[in-house]
Amino acid sequence: MSTKLSNGITVPEKQEWRTEDLSLSNIADYKPFIMVDGPGVRCSVYVSGCKFLCPGCYNVAAQNFNYGTPYSKALEDQIIDDLRQPYVQGLTLLGGEPFLNTGVTLQLVRRVREEFGHTKDIWSWTGYTWEELLEETDDKKALLKAIDVVVDGRFIQALMDLTLRFRGSSNQRMIRVPESLQTGEIVLWTDEYDQ
Ligand code: SF4
Repeated sequence: MSTKLSNGITVPEKQEWRTEDLSLSNIADYKPFIMVDGPGVRCSVYVSGCKFLCPGCYNVAAQNFNYGTPYSKALEDQIIDDLRQPYVQGLTLLGGEPFLNTGVTLQLVRRVREEFGHTKDIWSWTGYTWEELLEETDDKKALLKAIDVVVDGRFIQALMDLTLRFRGSSNQRMIRVPESLQTGEIVLWTDEYDQ
């Protein structure tokens, strides 16, 4: 059973929540060519369903696994076509919880790698912390290994900071996934604007 802490943070048991039990493979929204969900121009996919239920969540409607419309081959083809534009830097996965919708998100990131290799980067937001993900189910670890940057952790209202780039609260980290997995230490993502 998950527990709720006094600050509103929900902590699931290890491997308690599973895509196969929860996800309806619904998409809350798709936004091509936007510049707020990571660096550069990006295509953002918002999946439906999240169990963390953070107070102050930026996308309450997408907490519901029933919300939105079913993921489809037509949408996937549209995303791939949009990513093909040379000015698009990459794909962003948000929600909802991308790691509780791996039926959609793993399929999509694998297609993106097939089509573009590593010429497009892939970012994902998640309510799980990095440390939690490393002990999670195989599908979540597979998704983690397939992406470039994960923005981790629940949104915590008491730690909200509007000056942060790409994050809502200061507990959340932008983590370079391949480098962190390789070294066993968290390597944070930064760019010239963070110097
Ligand atoms: S993890 Fe993200 S999507 Fe889920 S409830 Fe918290 S803020 Fe909302």
